[in-house]
Amino acid sequence: MEYNHDELAKKDKAYFWHPFTQMADWEKEDPLIIVTGEGSYLIDDRGRKFIDGFSSLWVNLHGHRVAEIDKAIKDQLGRIAHTTALGFSNAPAIELAAKLVAVTPPGLDKVFYSDSGSEAVEIALKMALQYWQHKGEPRHKFLSFVNAYHGDTVGAVSLGGVELFHAAYKPLLFDVLRAPAPYCYRCPLGKEYPGCKLACLKETERILEENKGSVAAIIVEPMVQGAAGMLTQPSGFLKGLRELADRHNSLLVADEVATGFGRTGKLFACEHEGVVPDIMTLAKGLTGGYLPLAATLVSQKIYDAFLGDYAANKTFFHGHSYTGNPLGCAAALASLGLLGEQGFLDGVEQRVKFMADRLHKCGKLARVGEVRQCGMMVGVELVADKRTKQEYNLAEKMGARVCYKAREKWIITRPLGNVVVLMPPLNIPLDVLEELLDGLKWAIEETTRE
Ligand SMILES: *Cc1c(COP(=O)(O)O)cnc(C)c1O
Repeated sequence: MEYNHDELAKKDKAYFWHPFTQMADWEKEDPLIIVTGEGSYLIDDRGRKFIDGFSSLWVNLHGHRVAEIDKAIKDQLGRIAHTTALGFSNAPAIELAAKLVAVTPPGLDKVFYSDSGSEAVEIALKMALQYWQHKGEPRHKFLSFVNAYHGDTVGAVSLGGVELFHAAYKPLLFDVLRAPAPYCYRCPLGKEYPGCKLACLKETERILEENKGSVAAIIVEPMVQGAAGMLTQPSGFLKGLRELADRHNSLLVADEVATGFGRTGKLFACEHEGVVPDIMTLAKGLTGGYLPLAATLVSQKIYDAFLGDYAANKTFFHGHSYTGNPLGCAAALASLGLLGEQGFLDGVEQRVKFMADRLHKCGKLARVGEVRQCGMMVGVELVADKRTKQEYNLAEKMGARVCYKAREKWIITRPLGNVVVLMPPLNIPLDVLEELLDGLKWAIEETTRE
């Protein structure tokens, strides 16, 4: 199919308001319009081929146009695209629920569907709150972390700790208890590694003590705070939180929206610490990056608390028009099939090691403060001064400039402030991965040269 780029670009600017985008800047630029995909590549309307260096915003697992997932969706389309889960059921949603319970850590027993990670988090919030009501112990506070990101709906933003995203919406948000999370490179409590982790856990414990009996749940992004800039947590932090939650009788919610489905090298990040949360949220990679689908998994204990006579008002009053969408569930089943194939995670491990090797060189660059990696999730933090860790002024848009420069090497990625993100599909061929790592290093050197 032929595309008229100028026509499309004009229409885009006339009608399309893009997410997280300053549209005044956008209107001045020539937009990149992706029309096809092929494995780890994205191809634009002018036939230019780019490496998808950020898995199309962290969702893609197996590359684009994967035969097995394409087929699963087409087959499902030949039956039915959508039917409601309110009062009815459908085969792919049933099969997927069983499969998710089987592959997640034992102790997560029931699956509640929605359409995005933000919604999965809202559902976790409402379930946790209502759970304690049903238990006759009205705990109503939530504890989340500095620099956390849990989505963009109002409840999820309330939990989030990224100040920039909050400012405008303050009047809409509810208060949460906020504990420090390890960012060892810039420890929020001024401790050097490994004191940072212990200090954060200690402060979390102090907050729990201070709010004894009123904390419904602790919510955390396990192993790595993604949107904050790929802030990796030292081992023991997540386990420490599990222990604190147990000691204080609070629920632990693991937001695995970004980390789930092999991204950290294990199927779920919680596995790194042998932790079983009471609630787990899943989205992004759930359908292999094909369709919007999310899930909130809970333990039997939580589910059981909602059982009773209808008149007892214990029902979970929540649902969406597309809850349990059969097409999305069919895609997810196919994606999970691929993840479960013999040797798949070994392949990921091989890439993780390859990346670690190459990134070591990247870390030596004059303007790179720290390279953080958790499996296939990588953040390269750029600094104005390596010795003092002086940050670049955000207005300089260094991260964005590096990503823009990388396009000259046919690489697409998106920064998080001064952090350049690298998160390729889990099955990216090694030679393409090499090209991606070399290209990114080049873009950093070129952009940060004085
Ligand atoms: C992306 C993300 C979300 C939000 O998911 P959406 O599908 O964008 O609503 C929630 N939590 C974490 C940890 C995320 O990375």
